[in-house]
Amino acid sequence: MPELPEVETMCRGIACFRGESITNTHFPRHTRRPSPIQPRPKIMAAKLQRARIMDVTRLGKRAVLRIRQNEHHMDSFLVFEPRMTGLLLRVSPPTSEHVRLIVTTGRKQPLIFWDRRGLGTITLFNKSTFESRFGSHALGPDALTITGLTLHAKLHSSRRHIKVALLDQKILAGVGNIYASEILYDAKVDPRTRCHRLTRAAYDRLATACSRILHHAIKMEGSSIGDETYRTADNRPGRYQRLHKVYGRSKNECFQCKTSIQRVVQSQRSTFFCPVCQQRY
Ligand SMILES: [Zn+2]
Repeated sequence: MPELPEVETMCRGIACFRGESITNTHFPRHTRRPSPIQPRPKIMAAKLQRARIMDVTRLGKRAVLRIRQNEHHMDSFLVFEPRMTGLLLRVSPPTSEHVRLIVTTGRKQPLIFWDRRGLGTITLFNKSTFESRFGSHALGPDALTITGLTLHAKLHSSRRHIKVALLDQKILAGVGNIYASEILYDAKVDPRTRCHRLTRAAYDRLATACSRILHHAIKMEGSSIGDETYRTADNRPGRYQRLHKVYGRSKNECFQCKTSIQRVVQSQRSTFFCPVCQQRY
């Protein structure tokens, strides 16, 4: 599932569409599970026709295209949420039958949204709906810029397990299951620790680990793992999976202490950790 580093990589890969005008929007017919699209394709295509892509940014685990129809309209926001298998591409897609949207501009290659499982969403928001949907009440600060002070303020009175709390997008935007395990290992915190037991110093270590792991994963263009389908915007796999220290490594040796990495299930999601290197508070 694309998390912050994968979506950031996709956004950088399609940043070349900044400033381009949309000449055509096509939702190909297919026999696959339909992607959730709002408003319906015909209306969205009409709203995007001849509009300009003003900016390409990331919002947590979503890619956002700021769209300007003309100078008399407020900008609107085309939001792609890849969920499990969604991809944004600027080259030919991995398969043709899972292409959900083709946006043609003045560039030679179109912008493509591809999704094998069809769980990813495509939504065009007007400015006020966008702001109310993604305001600070709904989405926490971005995980790339989180501080120990903020994490501590948000979590110090919570009794949840720290791993489960890190996945809550209202607390922290962008972290998912892979990077939560990696961040907790880097910060030497046991994922089963309840938030209210963590020290202020541990929150500082978590924030530092969050920034370090995510920046490194962006540099390596994200993680492509197992049967997952994550690819960069030019259809290459990411490389950070080779550097995972705990995720997907249960029963393998910890690189630091040689103890077996353990797997537990928390809120129906797998968590991987080293029971020796990671302290339970
Ligand atoms: Zn260890």
